[in-house]
Amino acid sequence: MDVVALLPRLHLLRFPVGQAYLWQDDDESTLVDAGPPGSGRVIADAVTALGGGPAAVRRVVLTHFHEDHAGGAAELAALTGAEVLAHAADAAVLRREVPAPEPVLAEWERPLHAAALRHLPVRDVEPPSAITELADGDVLPLGGGAHVVHVPGHTDGSIALHLPGHGVLFTGDTVAASPVDGSVMPGVFNLDRPRTVAALHRLAGLDADVACFGHGDPVTGRASAVLREAADRHRPAR
Ligand SMILES: [Zn+2]
Ligand SMILES: [Zn+2]
Repeated sequence: MDVVALLPRLHLLRFPVGQAYLWQDDDESTLVDAGPPGSGRVIADAVTALGGGPAAVRRVVLTHFHEDHAGGAAELAALTGAEVLAHAADAAVLRREVPAPEPVLAEWERPLHAAALRHLPVRDVEPPSAITELADGDVLPLGGGAHVVHVPGHTDGSIALHLPGHGVLFTGDTVAASPVDGSVMPGVFNLDRPRTVAALHRLAGLDADVACFGHGDPVTGRASAVLREAADRHRPAR
């Protein structure tokens, strides 16, 4: 796992597949996503190295149920005592109460998806022992107030997290940056691509300087404008 400083309070945690983010307030820390299965220990160690003890990890906010983002959550919560939060529409999948719905892949996505799966550890993931369910409009006590934005499409319970006081937006997999040229685009491997494109348009209307994606390099300046340009290139289906 690579750790990259983005802002004094914000670090990117990069895994072989997928990315999580560490937000540090003065006396507590929040993870946005928790990496693939087996990542709990390495994340807890990274928090310690950055000056917070494991007990400082107050919460893990999951942007959606996919295991490259949620796989490390149970282990991290067990190590730190953190609360695990996710949108109600993905919580049942995270609890293993219902099977994970499969993405609807376009032809061009199939080889990418097969390659991504090869990088994910094959193991049975423990579900978090408890999940706090989120809804659109909830405000979480980090960064002076983090607004939950429900953006179904990539999964039914996909959320973004917007910190208006800091101009930071966590998009989950609703938006991605291309590994080839960094261009910003709707995420891939969606349950519903038209709804993902509509979600990109909603996020492009939020005020942000920094946009943090589930995959690909974050945008660290004029993020709203970059998202609007991406939305203009991807018109919603009518
Ligand atoms: Zn992902
Ligand atoms: Zn995903």
